[in-house]
Amino acid sequence: MEEHHLFDCIECGACSFVCPSHIPLVQYYRASKAAVREQKADNARADLARERFEARQERMARAAAEKEAKRAARKQAAIAKAAGKTGDDDPIAAAIARAQARKAAQANAPADQQQVLQDKLARIETRLAKAREKLAADDGSDPTVSTALQNAVATTEQKLATARAELTGTAKETDNETENA
Ligand code: SF4
Repeated sequence: MEEHHLFDCIECGACSFVCPSHIPLVQYYRASKAAVREQKADNARADLARERFEARQERMARAAAEKEAKRAARKQAAIAKAAGKTGDDDPIAAAIARAQARKAAQANAPADQQQVLQDKLARIETRLAKAREKLAADDGSDPTVSTALQNAVATTEQKLATARAELTGTAKETDNETENA
């Protein structure tokens, strides 16, 4: 009806006045104009509702994108924090370094053990020397004291022999490992 220029009609009633069939043309035009106006209003309301719906969808998509970005940022921060705790960004290199350190510690273990036995041997030798000095200084007036001193010397000598045997065994073990290496 708009294409036929309905709204150019000024509703003067001339066409109705001259119509031989007495068709109420002006009433029809008015009703049609009202229908067109109502349809335009409906279209406007529909357009507004569609715009509001699209704006809501866009807002929700933007909120979801922001939430995802924050989640990704938190994940990156956690990864960076974990890397900072270990102090090494390359886990493979860190594992290799740990394995090498463990191997080096195992290689040094016999040497460390040998040093401990040598210290123990030196302490026993010192005790034995003191026990022998006391036994030599004993005048034999008290048989109980003399017996105790003799027992102390014998016990210390036994410990010294055991310590020497342990030290010898450790030294052999170290030599074997050196040859194998
Ligand atoms: S009422 Fe009829 S004559 Fe008058 S302007 Fe409208 S169409 Fe034309």
